[in-house]
Amino acid sequence: MDGHATSSRGGSLNVIIVGAGIGGLTLALFLQRARIDCRIYESAPEIRPLGVGINILPHASQAFAELGIDAALTRASILTREAVFFNRFGQLIHREPLGRYAGYEHPQYSVHRGEVQQVLLDAVSERLGANSVVTGCKCIAIEQDKGGAVAHFQSAVTGESLSSQRADVVVGCDGLHSTVRKLFHPQEGPPLYSGVNMWRGVTLWPPILSGASMIRAGWLKTGKMVIYPIRDNVDGSGQQLINWVAELETPRHTNRDWTRIGSADDFIDAFEAWHFDWLDVPQLIRRAEMILEFPMVDQDPLPWWSQGRVSLLGDAAHPMYPRGSNGAGQAILDARALAEVLRSHQDPVDALKSYEAERLPFTAEVVRMNRRNPPDAILREVFERTGDKPFARVEDVISEDELVALSEGYKRVAGFDRESLAARAPLRSQNS
Ligand SMILES: Cc1cc2nc3c(=O)[nH]c(=O)nc-3n(C[C@H](O)[C@H](O)[C@H](O)COP(=O)(O)OP(=O)(O)OC[C@H]3O[C@@H](n4cnc5c(N)ncnc54)[C@H](O)[C@@H]3O)c2cc1C
Repeated sequence: MDGHATSSRGGSLNVIIVGAGIGGLTLALFLQRARIDCRIYESAPEIRPLGVGINILPHASQAFAELGIDAALTRASILTREAVFFNRFGQLIHREPLGRYAGYEHPQYSVHRGEVQQVLLDAVSERLGANSVVTGCKCIAIEQDKGGAVAHFQSAVTGESLSSQRADVVVGCDGLHSTVRKLFHPQEGPPLYSGVNMWRGVTLWPPILSGASMIRAGWLKTGKMVIYPIRDNVDGSGQQLINWVAELETPRHTNRDWTRIGSADDFIDAFEAWHFDWLDVPQLIRRAEMILEFPMVDQDPLPWWSQGRVSLLGDAAHPMYPRGSNGAGQAILDARALAEVLRSHQDPVDALKSYEAERLPFTAEVVRMNRRNPPDAILREVFERTGDKPFARVEDVISEDELVALSEGYKRVAGFDRESLAARAPLRSQNS
């Protein structure tokens, strides 16, 4: 059916979005495009540019282009040129083009998370009005009846109760520590630690390799690095802001918190010998502006996300290991899918069921694939086959066909192989 979802009062539908992260803000923009009213309630007292680097892959860039925010994002980011894989001795294993350089219509962006959030926030303020994002409001409970859902809030600063808000639909876009998810699934255990701890940082550094390369090197047992630039010429002398992540198998880990400060002393030993002719890794780590520590955790896929008029989106729905650059991407695809079903179903309850049927199995497979065979599985294969020794010729260790199969397999599961993107029809305009 191609009608507009309507509220129980017969007017136009309205939606409460809990959380102004990348998922919640993108949902607001897609809802506005579908002419569905919404308001975002965010617990942080102000939206600050937190985090470090993230990658937006072509499936999510396609969605951003549909929203008309691609130009703003291009100005804020690096258009990633290639993926390059090395062993811990700095020997090249595999190189492949990415984004536009691989023939995709839409680019891969490497960018500071705060910049993505700011681009989205600017677009939301401009299109929905400055009052559409209410900060300092922590959602603590949700009730619903046949005609609507009510979200209850308290001040994130003082803890006092704030006025409750009623809408036709409430969507929990409240991230890894989602309150809405806990309300739905109170029996769920704590996050599952993968056995790998991560330290993340940003360092001012001259361009490495192509100046737009996403580098993965080493392997988790002895230390792995992911390195890519997120901003060009930050100091007028051509240096870039380089994002790096050090990953190491260790029982030592802390609770997950995106903003926990870490220390190089806790992991740099694993990388002390990494002096390559293309990069001095210990120096890159030592010169970091700041280091954050974060355990690699996820949660088992949920049996359901939607109950009546309430649903989940993004990390609240499907926290996954950050190994395939898909956390933000899948949240963005959720947002587009949800706006489309709310637009095309008369009954919001049916719309949320349909959203779950479309997105839950898909994202569950990405969660599982990130455990089993993410893109860095290429490094695991070489580590195991060489017994963690330098090789004479990489083609004696792994064939080009195997490398391509590992890489393409992940793209298909996560939905950013070229065929899937070409098949995607753009969101129909409201007048169609
Ligand atoms: C501070 C921070 C830093 C991050 N840094 C990185 C990074 O460097 N690299 C990376 O790959 N990913 C990072 N992420 C995660 C990444 O943004 C997400 O994996 C991805 O974008 C999916 O986004 P999301 O909107 O589902 O969740 P998030 O981006 O986590 O957004 C959730 C939002 O909900 C808000 N919220 C939480 N609880 C409530 C509540 N009860 N009521 C109201 N609002 C609530 C949070 O304050 C947050 O703004 C970070 C997330 C955060 C919150």
